Amino acid sequence: MKSMGLEKYRNKRNFSHTSEPRPVKPKKPRPGLAYVVQKHAASRLHYDLRLEEGGVLRSLAVPKEPPVREGVKRLAVQVEDHPYEYKDFEGTIPEGEYGAGKVEIWDRGEYVLVEKTPGKWVVDIKGGRLRGRFALIQLKAKDKTRRDNVNWLFFKLKKGA
Ligand code: MN
Repeated sequence: MKSMGLEKYRNKRNFSHTSEPRPVKPKKPRPGLAYVVQKHAASRLHYDLRLEEGGVLRSLAVPKEPPVREGVKRLAVQVEDHPYEYKDFEGTIPEGEYGAGKVEIWDRGEYVLVEKTPGKWVVDIKGGRLRGRFALIQLKAKDKTRRDNVNWLFFKLKKGA
């Protein structure tokens, strides 16, 4: 998935009202990439999957509990990149602010990128709840000329896949 940059993240928030991290410079690349899922009780409960890439956190909103076992496919909607520091964020985003509601860390750890093509990521996740090999597959846009579909499928792969 392409970087969406941190501008959208910045523009949606008022950092004098929310305790979410202010965007700073993206982190330098290094081994052991951050993985986190934040359970976010916004107007609709969802799970924010975040994978460090290019010094920021690629972010996807998963409307249902992430797939802890094989055979469960979840929609994951790409949203704006979040700053690296967001991986540690827990707290309550105040009423009236973007994403108002409680954020808690549902799972965290590291991941290794196994395969990356424009519409497919395969990752080995070493978290507490999610462990093993997972795929993110970009859904095709209805309009075939568009390549910017934000909808992905997120699922666990069989062992040895
Ligand atoms: Mn969210």
